[in-house]
Amino acid sequence: MKTQILNLNNWPRCILVLCNFGFVEFLQIVLCNWYFIFSAKPIKYKTADSMTKKETAVLYDDIAKPKTLSRNADPCTAKGCKWPKSGSYVYVPYFISESYSQKERSIIIRGLQSFNVSTCIRFVPWKCGDRDFIYIENKDGCWSYVGRQDGGQYISLNKGGCLHQSVVQHEVLHALGFNHEQVRSDRDTYVRILFENILPDLKYNFEKIETNNLGTPYDFNSVMEYRNDAASKNGKPTIVAKCNPNLKFGNAKEMSANDILRIKRLYECCEYPVDNYTVSN
Ligand SMILES: [Zn+2]
Repeated sequence: MKTQILNLNNWPRCILVLCNFGFVEFLQIVLCNWYFIFSAKPIKYKTADSMTKKETAVLYDDIAKPKTLSRNADPCTAKGCKWPKSGSYVYVPYFISESYSQKERSIIIRGLQSFNVSTCIRFVPWKCGDRDFIYIENKDGCWSYVGRQDGGQYISLNKGGCLHQSVVQHEVLHALGFNHEQVRSDRDTYVRILFENILPDLKYNFEKIETNNLGTPYDFNSVMEYRNDAASKNGKPTIVAKCNPNLKFGNAKEMSANDILRIKRLYECCEYPVDNYTVSN
């Protein structure tokens, strides 16, 4: 079971003092890393992400769960796990670990940028005073918490298989409050889940959730859709489309139009022309 590993509500006083006096950003970064490295207690995850399939990282069992709250995608967004809106935009502070190379960092930045240009989400560099933020780190697999957590949260993007546009978008969508396509409340209308083919320990990843589907249809092209054979114990399909049992899905390279529409509806983005807002390095 995955558990909450971060709570930055009680940052060391020295950090706050340094921030209040406007200490250089570099020192903030060092201190932040120090906190994460020495103070956070990473949990060993029973991750099933396939880090060997570099072209199509398998993203099942990639949701981290807090210890005290059982939060599920859209249901939690009705209870406070949405990121707050300020004016027309939703600002999400981010911090990218220094462990990534410039090239790897660029992939992550590009993934964040894709939200900035298509929705009212604005990923902005973390700064002192930002209480809630995402910390993108090279941990063990590709995973994220669902929705905003209190006081900072990891998104793990392992260098060995998670640095793809689709994977960055997938994990960020979790952090924004979205869950997998095949767990949505109306999934039985569109797919059959073949539990008999699923690895026993991973069956919980296929349990239906009372999601708010935001008036959007089930989307086989969603970047949040599992592959047909996700978590299969025998190579046979675990998800079958009712409209076409031979349909292959779960290989989206980027967010679908529905993925973007859901963000806009959940966060009540105004329809506006794409601007030139950029995510800085
Ligand atoms: Zn996922």
